[in-house]
Amino acid sequence: MTRDWHASTPEDCAAALGADTTNGLSADEVARRLAADGPNQLRGKPPKRFVERFLTQLREPLIYILLGSGVVALALQEWVDASVIFLVVLINAVVGAVQEARAHSAIAALARQVSALAGVLRNGERLRVESAELVAGDIVLLEAGDRVPADLRLLRVRDLVVDEAMLTGESLPVGKSSMAVVQDAALVDRHCMAYAGTLALQGTATGLVVATGSRTELGRIAALIDAAPLIATPLTRRLAAFSNLMLWIILALAGLTFAVGLLRGESVQDMLMAAVALAVGAIPEGLPAALTITLAIGVGRMARRAAVIRRLPAVEALGSVTVICSDKTGTLTQNRMTVTELLVGGFGYTLHGAAGDEDGEIRPAGAAPTDNRALQPLLLAGVLCNDAQMRREAGQLVFSGDPTEWALLLAALRGGLDADTLRLRYPRLDELPFDARYQYMVTLNAGPDGHRMWAKGAMERVLAHCRYALDAHGTPVALNASAVHAAADEMAARGMRVLAFAYHTGGAAPLMRDALGDDWVFLGLQGMVDPPRGEAEQAVARCKAAGIRVVMITGDHAVTAAGIAGALGIGAATPRVVTGRELAALDADALRAVAGEVSVFARVEPEQKLRLVEALQARGDVVAMTGDGVNDAPALRQADIGVAMGRGGTDVAKESSDMVLTDDNFASIEAAVEEGRGVYDNLLKFIVWTLPTNFAEGVIILVAVLAGVTLPITPLQLSLIHI
Ligand code: ADP
Ligand code: MG
Repeated sequence: MTRDWHASTPEDCAAALGADTTNGLSADEVARRLAADGPNQLRGKPPKRFVERFLTQLREPLIYILLGSGVVALALQEWVDASVIFLVVLINAVVGAVQEARAHSAIAALARQVSALAGVLRNGERLRVESAELVAGDIVLLEAGDRVPADLRLLRVRDLVVDEAMLTGESLPVGKSSMAVVQDAALVDRHCMAYAGTLALQGTATGLVVATGSRTELGRIAALIDAAPLIATPLTRRLAAFSNLMLWIILALAGLTFAVGLLRGESVQDMLMAAVALAVGAIPEGLPAALTITLAIGVGRMARRAAVIRRLPAVEALGSVTVICSDKTGTLTQNRMTVTELLVGGFGYTLHGAAGDEDGEIRPAGAAPTDNRALQPLLLAGVLCNDAQMRREAGQLVFSGDPTEWALLLAALRGGLDADTLRLRYPRLDELPFDARYQYMVTLNAGPDGHRMWAKGAMERVLAHCRYALDAHGTPVALNASAVHAAADEMAARGMRVLAFAYHTGGAAPLMRDALGDDWVFLGLQGMVDPPRGEAEQAVARCKAAGIRVVMITGDHAVTAAGIAGALGIGAATPRVVTGRELAALDADALRAVAGEVSVFARVEPEQKLRLVEALQARGDVVAMTGDGVNDAPALRQADIGVAMGRGGTDVAKESSDMVLTDDNFASIEAAVEEGRGVYDNLLKFIVWTLPTNFAEGVIILVAVLAGVTLPITPLQLSLIHI
């Protein structure tokens, strides 16, 4: 069914598709539609047939010479030589075709391994499902960084900006709304639609799936898109250019041999055979296949070590990496956050209990009162200003969303607060989602005491909006900012990630970042531990031993960053930390100097990563850089190896990367670099060994003819060597 979705109201579209915009489809209905419409996938071009691949192998300039030589041998009735030459060509083409097919399917399989998930509303629950399982009528929840999974009629839009270049060729991102447009609007002007394959750069939206798979706009043009992965690297491209040059050199040498021989009075027949021998000897016909095999094996080995290569040239660049710039949270640490300390109403509390286990309790530290009236509001802020979900499955707690936010839900649970009940009692009216650029999140909630805004985020950012603080009696008093800073620094010094919380009475939708005001009430701090990954420490040490510098770039607090860096052996024992603010004040020269010396950068905004990569590259470094958010994309593209997180990363980051880590683990980058060095070594060895030996074989013949001695080696023997 097709219709003018862009010209109809959301209600009409929903009705036409039998969709429920508040609860989504039921599981049964999804199954039924999936069976009827098929999965939400584009059918790629059928793979090349073997014959085709085989023929491509023959369409190589150097192979032409071999074939020509074979024909000459035939004409001279040198049956054995001719058949051996043709046999070499045949075997070579078969091996080449088989290897190429293997390399292609291996790389295509890897691409599938990084499958895309989509946020969707079904049975009244927010879920993440494989994009392939979406059906028409589904309600999709779109976030900044997502690849639009199907064609959507937008129902609710919040600052959504989409990059549609891959569909319309329009390079400027377009803003979206939910208002219907005129019926004959061109694709670029259908602002109430988000099309499959385009990228959400900013904002959030809810959309109704109106078309899936090959029925999407992308599906219609997909025939034009060749999904075949590229299997060329700078090295293989240079080699291809070189082999064209070699073609002419070999022809010239063969001609020279022939002419000189004739002048010396040798027979035409003998000299033709000498020329053939020279050509056969000098041609490295096995080289391209050998290179493809080496690359394919390397890519396979990396994938088994959780590093999926998206662009083959990356394999080579990996071998020459000199600096790895890594995120902290989740890459160098385990991303298993647990709140262990609270600062509330001026008093400290500790949380006890095993990570992820709901049993546990909050205990006062030192002189802290047991009936602190600010404790409940602090934990409540952690529940309301929070997008994570918590369910019980077979007696176990199961979380989804951001691990930082799971920790807050668990802390509230340990304080006796039930997230589900509270979220019903204080329904959310609006939000400013967490954004790495701003480092805080705000929600507007209704509730028994009227509307309230709740904020959580980096301590400096939140505190900047606060004038009051809730004391232990639950009364707002004047804020003592320096005391809070001191307490937060003390927690961070122990490697803790510290989040600050605040609230404000009143507030109206839509929330705006520059209109939040500066008279918020500070609620307290929650400090969480996120242990470093054990394997990361060893990987950092191996990098050092291999002469590769590891640099930590994090949005987290300077003191927290230093603590984790110290524990992992990044930089000196007490590493020097440079903050984003300090970076912003540096000019290009100073930045280059700092980039060469400092190994820990904290409170860095994603945009600053680009400057850092450029500064390192200006110093001559080959840089691998990790990233996960939309704003990391420019840095990922600029880096020699952009590394995206397979689990925690956005689709935009993955699209911009050369390599995706399926386990988000720093150790996997190090493993890939190790493999990359192996591959590069092997490639060079092949070339350095094959080219001179072949060339020498050719030269022997030339010298023999010039000197007028009998051929030291016949084409037959040469061909046999090459087999
Ligand atoms: P990292 O570079 O370690 O991944 P992030 O960009 O995740 O750091 O976080 C930077 C800072 O932003 C954190 O120190 C924290 O104060 C704040 N922050 C992180 N996650 C959230 C969130 N979900 N909501 C609000 N603030 C957050
Ligand atoms: Mg992060």
